[in-house]
Amino acid sequence: MRFCVVGAGFSGAIIARHLSEKGHKVLLLDERTHIAGNCHTARDEATGVMVHHYGPHIFHTADRRAWDYICQFGTFLPYVNRVKAVSKGRMYTLPVNLLTINQFFETTMSPAQARSFIAGKADRSIKEPKNFEEQALSMIGPELYKAFFYGYTRKQWGLEPTELPASILKRLPLRFNYDDNYFNHPYQGMPEGGYSAIVENILKSTNIDLRLNTKFEEISEEFHHVFYTGPIDRYFEFRLGRLGYRTLDFERIDSDGDYQGTAVINYCDQEVPYTRISEHKHFAPWEADALQKTVSFREYSRLAEPNDVPYYPIRLANEKTMLEQYIELAGNTPNVSFLGRLGTYRYLDMDVTISEALSACDRIDVALNEGEPLPAFFIDPT
Ligand SMILES: Cc1cc2nc3c(=O)[nH]c(=O)nc-3n(C[C@H](O)[C@H](O)[C@H](O)COP(=O)(O)OP(=O)(O)OC[C@H]3O[C@@H](n4cnc5c(N)ncnc54)[C@H](O)[C@@H]3O)c2cc1C
Repeated sequence: MRFCVVGAGFSGAIIARHLSEKGHKVLLLDERTHIAGNCHTARDEATGVMVHHYGPHIFHTADRRAWDYICQFGTFLPYVNRVKAVSKGRMYTLPVNLLTINQFFETTMSPAQARSFIAGKADRSIKEPKNFEEQALSMIGPELYKAFFYGYTRKQWGLEPTELPASILKRLPLRFNYDDNYFNHPYQGMPEGGYSAIVENILKSTNIDLRLNTKFEEISEEFHHVFYTGPIDRYFEFRLGRLGYRTLDFERIDSDGDYQGTAVINYCDQEVPYTRISEHKHFAPWEADALQKTVSFREYSRLAEPNDVPYYPIRLANEKTMLEQYIELAGNTPNVSFLGRLGTYRYLDMDVTISEALSACDRIDVALNEGEPLPAFFIDPT
């Protein structure tokens, strides 16, 4: 059979490889000039630094299947994300941990003391937080919320935290020890040769015809089925409206040596227009010291316009209503499956992307063996 896979990010690459290994012919398209989608990495000519083209990507997971899968295609070296944060002219560590608390309140509290101190700050009148702000106030109280979350969140989402769902903050850990590892996951690392080299290895399969610089809209060939990892609203020519995204602008900073001494520094104050600065050579600590020059990026967040790269789906009430209408449309469109972060309009970490693509491959096998039609979605995107 002949299939079309739209998008050569992790989602599309995994589906394409699987179909190819099963002996099917696959046309894999991407409108960009490179593979790996938003995880694309390339060595910067001016500095020799491995740059994460669409912003920093750190691999972290508790999912053994996703970890084992990706490790087949490249070597991962140890990397632990330790984020620093500037608030009102002072430097802290994130996520909020015992050092953050003790530095902020100028104390030397023990874990137990800090726990009851923060419990005293937390607003206990909020039983069921209705939004991001209430969630923060119910967990950490007003001082830490204003210092580390209010301004950053406003810049990141362009909205008051009272307009954002409480669920966003549920994901941020609060620690009463000195562990400043940004993630809790047992498997963490950075690919030695970058993410694009990993995707290149995934695509080393004979039945894949990869065409870069090619939009799906330009293709008129017939396929048994299309796996579409581009934006779902775009597939339907935005006929029900545009799903909202935040986009990012990156402002490049070139310098010699070491610009900021670490990979990521968040700028929490609302008056600073950017959200964070990432210095990419620190994402590869095994080679950072050998590089004479360095490149960093100030990151600015704003509402995506039609020609911008869609980064973070907004997914507030209006977008969810529109998404449901697109889901219905997709359900009535035979021979197309929507997947990946854009096809399902969800923020997905790489490990979740990989895990969902692998589960989709399982479903594809069953459907093709039984001669059943493939579903519009392999998961529920709502
Ligand atoms: C700023 C940022 C930072 C992130 N950091 C992390 C991190 O630290 N750790 C982590 O695990 N995850 C991170 N992620 C998530 C990660 O980027 C995603 O998990 C991953 O990119 C999803 O892969 P995908 O294949 O679904 O989508 P994508 O990578 O977006 O790939 C989709 C591809 O489809 C192509 N395409 C779309 N429409 C068409 C069309 N009509 N015709 C042809 N081609 C088309 C696009 O060009 C694109 O290359 C981050 C995401 C963002 C936005």
